[in-house]
Parts: sequence; structure tokens; C-alpha cells
Amino acid sequence: LEIVGAPIFNERNMLKGAVLVIYDITEFKNVEVMRKDFVANVSHELKTPITSIRGFAETLLDGAAEDPEARSQFLNIIFDESKRIQLLIDDLLILSKLEKDESTINVSTVHVGLMLDEILPLVQQHADQKQIEVQVDAEEELKFEADEDKMKQILLNLLTNAISYTPEKGLVSVKIKEFEDKVCFIVKDTGIGIGKEALPRIFERFYRVDKDRSRDTGGTGLGLAIVKHIVEVHKGEIEVESELGKGTTFAVYIPKDQN
Ligand code: ADP
Repeated sequence: LEIVGAPIFNERNMLKGAVLVIYDITEFKNVEVMRKDFVANVSHELKTPITSIRGFAETLLDGAAEDPEARSQFLNIIFDESKRIQLLIDDLLILSKLEKDESTINVSTVHVGLMLDEILPLVQQHADQKQIEVQVDAEEELKFEADEDKMKQILLNLLTNAISYTPEKGLVSVKIKEFEDKVCFIVKDTGIGIGKEALPRIFERFYRVDKDRSRDTGGTGLGLAIVKHIVEVHKGEIEVESELGKGTTFAVYIPKDQN
């Protein structure tokens, strides 16, 4: 609470009383704390790969470049770390754009079949590397009115996570169907699962159940925050069910007519 006070005088300039104005600034403080946390998080996320890039570049300059094996190894690390920065910046831009145009969604007709044709190839290589089968069960002919790019983003982020957090030879399935006046996307995996305590926090920016694992999988920690945001601007809902060691299921419901 913030309190501002002022004395009140009568006509003869004698003190008559005082007025106190009490502002509830809890909301403002929370936003302020969140903003500071966010800046600190972004800085930290950038610092790690940049430190590594600098370190390896320096070592190369100091002579390691003479050794072909070390050279190629260090250059690969520099390349990977710069890709990580790129991914982080891409996700930050997506998030900031979502926040800026809070309510503007670019509504057009989304064709479920076409959307899948576009998104599945983007995750196939990752799935193949881990020998993960991606099963699709969709009403391919289904059409609905929504922001097409954002629908693709939901699907891409959920599928990327499902593949990332599922061990080799696991199974990932995606189901898209009509459900009352909504379209329902269900992405299910047989992966590592998410513990009960972590479950309510996974939609927070930069929250990761296992920081190291997420790093290894190349995650930015922003994927689910982006998904949640998109679902909110479409006045939809997102549900998650998970069991440690068994797998996770995300279900997104988007009202079919956004007009
Ligand atoms: P990240 O880039 O780290 O994957 P996300 O915002 O996409 O960030 O997800 C946040 C965290 O939620 C992840 O770090 C991971 O711990 C957990 N998570 C997300 N999806 C899954 C999943 N399908 N299975 C297990 N854990 C998951």
C-alpha cells in the first residue's frame, strides 16, 4: 500500500484534520517485479551462450585453430550456441508481438489437413533421429476460422516439446477434431512426464522442470508461455495431464468462429 497524506486547515488557518489517500499498488508492484525478473532472465539466458562463444573463439584465436580437429569441434560449438541465441530471440519476438497486438488476431480459414502438411515435416527429422513415431489422427477436411499462423505455432510448440521430452523409440500422437463449437488439438507423448508440483508452473516464461535437460534439447523456456498466450487471445482453453515416467497430454480448445 502507498499512503499519501495532506493536512486540512479551516478559514482561520487552524488545523482541522487531514486527508489520507491510500493506494493499493500491489498490482503495479507485481507487474514491476515480473518485468524485472523477465529482464534478469533474458540477460541470463543470453549470457550463457555468449560466454561460451567468446571462450571458444578466444581459444581458436590463441592457436587452437592450428589443430584441425579442435578447430572443427570449437566451430561447431560456436555455431550451435549462436543458433540457441537465434531461437531465443525468435521466441522473444513472437512473445512481444503477441503482447503488443494483444487482441488483434488475423482471422482466416484454417484447413486442418493443410496445417498438418505444413507443420509435420518441421518436426519429422527430430522425431526420426530419436526413432519416435508420430501418429496423426485428424479430421483433415475440418475448417475453422482462426489465426492460421498462431494455430500452427501452437501445434509446432506442443509437438516439439512432445518429441524433446520423450526418450528414444517413444510415441507421440496428435489428434485434431471438432468438439461442440470448438476445435480440439490433443498432443500426447509417452515421455518423461511432469511432476505435480511443476505442472502449474510450466506455462511461466523461462520455467523449466529440468534446466539442464531443456538446455540439451535446445529449448528456450518460452514455448508454452507462447502457446498459452495464443490460446488466451483466441478465448480458448488449455489442459494438461501428466504422469512422471509415463507421459504427458496437452489439450487445446479453440472456439471455431473467431469473427
Ligand atoms: P522449453 O523450451 O524448456 O521446452 P517450454 O515453455 O516449451 O520450454 O516448456 C516448459 C517446461 O515444461 C520444459 O522445460 C519441460 O520441463 C516441461 N515440458 C513441456 N512439455 C513437456 C512434455 N511434453 N513432457 C515433459 N515435460 C514437458
